[in-house]
Amino acid sequence: MCGIAGIYSHKSVAAELYDCIIHLQHRGQDAAGIMTYDDRMHKEKGMGLAQGLFTEAKMKLLTGNIGISHNRYPTHGGFGHGEVQPFWTSVPYGIALAHNGNITNYAELAEEITKQETRYLNTTSDSEVLLHLFADRLHQNRQPNNSEEFFDLLCDAVSTVFRKVNGAYSITALIIGKGLVVFRDPHGIRPLVKGERPNGNGGKDYIFASENTMFYSLGYQPKGTVLPGELIYIDEEGNMFTKRLIKKEFNPCIFEYVYFSRPDATLNDVSVYRSRLRMGQNLAEAWKKKYPDKIPDIVIPAPSTANTAALSFANELGVRYSEGLYKNPFIGRTFIMPGQAERKKSVKYKLVPQETEIRGKKVMIMDDSIVRGNTSMEIVRMLKDFGAEEVYFAVACPPVKSPCFYGVDMPTRGELIAGNMSENEIEHYLNVDALLYQKIEDLVEAVMRKGDHHIDTPCMACLNGHYVANDIDEAKIKEMETMRLNDRNEK
Ligand code: SF4
Repeated sequence: MCGIAGIYSHKSVAAELYDCIIHLQHRGQDAAGIMTYDDRMHKEKGMGLAQGLFTEAKMKLLTGNIGISHNRYPTHGGFGHGEVQPFWTSVPYGIALAHNGNITNYAELAEEITKQETRYLNTTSDSEVLLHLFADRLHQNRQPNNSEEFFDLLCDAVSTVFRKVNGAYSITALIIGKGLVVFRDPHGIRPLVKGERPNGNGGKDYIFASENTMFYSLGYQPKGTVLPGELIYIDEEGNMFTKRLIKKEFNPCIFEYVYFSRPDATLNDVSVYRSRLRMGQNLAEAWKKKYPDKIPDIVIPAPSTANTAALSFANELGVRYSEGLYKNPFIGRTFIMPGQAERKKSVKYKLVPQETEIRGKKVMIMDDSIVRGNTSMEIVRMLKDFGAEEVYFAVACPPVKSPCFYGVDMPTRGELIAGNMSENEIEHYLNVDALLYQKIEDLVEAVMRKGDHHIDTPCMACLNGHYVANDIDEAKIKEMETMRLNDRNEK
C-alpha cells in the first residue's frame, strides 16, 4: 500500500520527511527513501525499516526546503534496491516522484514508453512508468515565463496521465527550480491528505501525506483531502495553484478504514477511529439479531487493528473487553510480510494468549478481516488450547473474495478463503461455535455515517468484485495475478 509525503517549507525539510516515514512505517516496511533539492537533487534510500536507514550523517546531505518521501510495500515490481522510491529523471528540469497505488495497464504503458518514446526503464516498477509519462508530456519546447504558465504545462501533463494511466495513484513529486507537485487519480482510490502551518513570515508551509498521522507533531493543521482528479502545485515562493482536472466518482479504498490506516488518521474527511467504532456497533447489532442466545463472556480483539471495533462491539453487547491476546510489538504485521511461509511462522511469535482471560469462558474473538484464514484458524486453536469453553468469531469486514489491483498486495483468488468457501464452510474450517461477517451495507454505513466528506461510494472491489476504475476484466485478472506470482517467485 505504501506511504508517501511531500513538504514545502521555509526551512530544511529532511528531518520532517524522516518523521513522515516513521509515522507512515505501518504502510510499508520493505524500504524507504527521501529526496530533497536545492540547487541539485539529494537522495537517500535503502531497504528495511527507516530507523536503520537514515543516519545523522546521511540526513545532513539532504539539504533543501522542498522534498518528498516514500515507504515501500511492494505491490508491483521487484524487491531489489533499484525499486526503492522516490524515482527520478533528469529530463526535463529534474523530476523526482513518489507513488502510492498500483497501475493496472502497466504492460501497455511500458511498451509505449520503451518502443514509441524510446525511453529506458531501469526497473519493473509501475511508478517508473508513470514518472516517464509525466516527464515526457512536460518536456515540451514551450518555456514557461512564470509559475502560472508552468502550472498550465503541469495541467496538460497531469491530464495526459489521467487519460492514459488506469488504476490507483496518489503522487508527490518535486521539480528542480519549480517546486512541489501532488495529484491523485480520478477516483481517489488511495488516500492523500493535506495540511498547512504559518511559517512566521506571513506565508505558509505545506504538507501532503498518505495519512495525517504526523501533522500534530510537526505543527501542521489538517486541511482536508486532495480531491480525486486534483492537481496541486506549490512554487518556490510558496504560491499554491490548484485545479480539479477531471471529475469522476470519488471511490476511496474502504480497506484503509478496516485495516491499513492508523486509527488516529482522518482520511477523505472521515475519522478512521470513529469509523471503526461504528463498525463494531453495527456488527454487534447484527450479532444480537442472529445469535441472541450466544452472548460471550468476553470480547478479545485480534490485536491490534481490530481493537477499536472490538471495544465498541463489547460495549454494545454489554460484555467485558479483554486483551486476552498479547501482541509482541516487535514483530511486523503478518499480512504485510511477503511470502506464505514467513506469515505462517509469525502468528505464534506474534500473539501470546493469556490463560486467565480465556479458560472456562465463552470467548468472542474479533478480527478486522479474514484474508487467507490461516491466522484466524491458529487464533481459534490457541484459544481452545488455553481452555475456552466456546469460541465465537466476528469480523469487522465482509468476506474478502477478490484480489486488490489498486495498491494492496492481496493474495490471488485461489488463496482467498472467502473466494473459495461459503460462510458456513469457513465457520467449519475455523472450528468456531459461531461466525459472523459484517454486511457490506453496514460497513459502508460505518464509514459514511459521519464526517463532512465527499465520498460517492467507497471502492470495495475486494469485497464485491466491482473494480471502480472499470479497468479490470477476467483477462486482466489473470494477467495481474500472473505478474504478482512472478514477482513473488522472483523474491
Ligand atoms: Fe481497497 Fe479492496 Fe479497493 Fe483494493 S480492492 S482499493 S483493498 S477496497
